Amino acid sequence: MTEIIKTDVLIVGAGPVGLFSVFELGLLDIRVHVVDILDKIGGQCAELYPEKPIYDIPGFPIVTGQELVDNLLKQIEPFSPVFHLSRMISTIERIGDPLFRVTTDAGDVFETKTVVIAAGGGSFQPKKPPIEGIEAYEGKSVSYAVRQMEAFRDRSVLIVGGGDSALDWTLNLQPIAKRVTLMHRRDAFRAAPHSVEKMRALAAEGAMDLKFGQVVGLEGADGQLSGAVIREDSGTVYTLPVEHMLPFFGLTMKLGPVSSWGLDLHNDELVLVSTETFETSQPGIFAIGDINWYPGKLKLILSGFHEGALMAQKAFRYIYPEKRLTFQYTTSSSSLQKKLGVL
Ligand code: FAD
Repeated sequence: MTEIIKTDVLIVGAGPVGLFSVFELGLLDIRVHVVDILDKIGGQCAELYPEKPIYDIPGFPIVTGQELVDNLLKQIEPFSPVFHLSRMISTIERIGDPLFRVTTDAGDVFETKTVVIAAGGGSFQPKKPPIEGIEAYEGKSVSYAVRQMEAFRDRSVLIVGGGDSALDWTLNLQPIAKRVTLMHRRDAFRAAPHSVEKMRALAAEGAMDLKFGQVVGLEGADGQLSGAVIREDSGTVYTLPVEHMLPFFGLTMKLGPVSSWGLDLHNDELVLVSTETFETSQPGIFAIGDINWYPGKLKLILSGFHEGALMAQKAFRYIYPEKRLTFQYTTSSSSLQKKLGVL
């Protein structure tokens, strides 16, 4: 029989917002388990832009996605959260007031007093270009995210797309790759204008190639690309020699199982919450970070951190209904400092 894992809080999603809420809950003596579909901790920061700099995290003038995740992990160390990776929360059933039975697609069963949904955009997946046989190259010479820039050093790289990811990676990889070619269907880009300007300047000075057309086929063997077959609008078809292709056609963020948990939704895709407690329409179930919606919502990491702090205050009332909650600062509270292991 499956052993039931009992906890005070189950966090759905190990992105930056789920991670920081471990800290806010930990300060209130609330221990947590965290579940994520991905095989790594860090959500979008670790999966989509680990080496890109973020400039709007308070107190960090510049920090990469992965550095932020590493720092958050260090910050929550005193609270020993238990991570369950590579599994998706599939069902949430209310069995008490409040008490929930939560299951994963890997067969785990949790009993938890509260649930914190920090599921970002839900389960996110790259949109793949409709190129026959592309699967044979995926993970080896066709990638939908840059995990390690070093993998592209001295290689010829074809980046496909016209949005921010395509332009950002063109600019980031151009200095280290042997040759970067940016391919877009037409000479109009959706990316930030200053990135487009920089890219055009590099192309004009011959430091990279900018081409227009569509990738209609791939050539290579054993998963290693040797060329991409390009068709231009004029009908001309040619093969461009390349070793790596990075298609950036956007992400499909599927709400996934969250939509079946009986929560009130905004536009069928985001979870409606109260801005006082970040509780959903179901008492005891909270939603923080990119997954939630309220008037004025900004999908920023710093907004998610604030939401986690207020969520923890309300979760405390469910977990310790008999206790009084006293507001304290980490700078001056010896009780908080003991919990953090610094006193
Ligand atoms: P996420 O980071 O999306 O994490 C959610 C996690 O939940 C994921 O790991 C997912 O696998 C998991 N999950 C989903 N459903 C389930 C389920 N059913 N069961 C188990 N696990 C589940 N924000 C800024 O503030 N500043 C920036 O400069 C900035 N730059 C960005 C650049 C790029 C290229 C991108 C894509 C985003 C950027 N963002 C930026 C946005 C920022 O990354 C998000 O706001 C942030 O990641 C949201 O954190 P989160 O924890 O809510 O969700």
